[in-house]
Amino acid sequence: MSTSNETVNESANLKALSGLSLAELEKFIEEMGLPKYRAAQIHTWIYAKLVTSFDEMTNLGAALRDRLKQEAKIGLLDIAHLQVSRDETRKYLFKLPDGKIVESVLMSFNDRTTLTACVSSQVGCAVGCTFCATGYLGFKRNLTAQEIVDQIMAIERESGKRISNIVYMGQGEPLLNTEEVIKSIHTMIESVGIGARHITVSTSGIIPGIERLREEDLPICLALSLHAPDSKTREEIVPITKTYPLGALMESLKNYTDSTGRRVTIEYVLLAGVTDKPEQAKALAEMVRDIHCMINLIPFNPTANDLGEMLYERPTREAQLRFKQLAERTGKTVTIRLERGTDIDAACGQLHNRFLQTK
Ligand code: SAH
Ligand code: SF4
Repeated sequence: MSTSNETVNESANLKALSGLSLAELEKFIEEMGLPKYRAAQIHTWIYAKLVTSFDEMTNLGAALRDRLKQEAKIGLLDIAHLQVSRDETRKYLFKLPDGKIVESVLMSFNDRTTLTACVSSQVGCAVGCTFCATGYLGFKRNLTAQEIVDQIMAIERESGKRISNIVYMGQGEPLLNTEEVIKSIHTMIESVGIGARHITVSTSGIIPGIERLREEDLPICLALSLHAPDSKTREEIVPITKTYPLGALMESLKNYTDSTGRRVTIEYVLLAGVTDKPEQAKALAEMVRDIHCMINLIPFNPTANDLGEMLYERPTREAQLRFKQLAERTGKTVTIRLERGTDIDAACGQLHNRFLQTK
């Protein structure tokens, strides 16, 4: 017993290197009194070669590798659980250094060249959308940039596959953790090697965060979870609407597209009888008429709240298609999101379902 505890404690004291930027690796290497070029070598082993141990870093020399083993480790996150869906979607439960759990999902689509990872930016979420499993959980804490980046690296190490696209659509509201999220995006681009255009940040509508992203001027994609074209419905299902009202939000989005020149995605969850009415589809089309955007409809994925109640239903396929047709009337492209991993609760908004039920 004592031996295994000691091992755990020792491992907790080691500095994890995966998920750090090159500058952070250089700082660590200099603190160890080593020449700076060693950091670049380690950076290559971690990000390009996906090594899982210092022994694989053959250009470092045995003595240096031994020193590193005493002070550092590769991965920050531990895989607590991995589930593979019928459609090959993989859901990872990661244990953070403080024992908390977050989830990430790896999805492959039919073209097989696109491998998309969905990462978490917070443990839980404070926004409390009434249809989302993460919202039911409440807010626990922000993730660090390193914890966000190491989700990608841990998935690549485990699966042996290179991720091409990243969506910040796991647990949490990225723009309530904006600085760490921006820092993580820089490392994703510069160290992990993901194209900025293949990175999407999805927000429930945090105006100061949208403003901050606009200033940072990263050529990434922004997605806004709009979900309702009228304030009354939106306040009900996305409670943060009371803090950041719909009118001001649309203004800030327009400002974002006008000044960056980039097209945004409008996400819209279809809840039967709540957001799928024909007049709402028409109002949605009007609302986004002057915004450079496309619309992505997300049919509700079943999630039960803490009391085991299912508050909403998914509209029928016919109702989804009717909504799509009406939403297209001002000329925007409208797509219906392809569902992945529902059988393992890995689809949008389902994260944390099983874990909650077994807790
Ligand atoms: N917090 C961010 C990103 C995470 S959620 C946001 O809200 O934008 C990613 C998308 O899934 C969001 O558009 C979210 O509203 C949606 N979503 C959440 N729960 C869902 C559910 N049960 N069914 C379908 N989509 C859901
Ligand atoms: Fe938070 Fe997004 Fe879920 Fe809303 S939908 S509770 S913002 S994670």
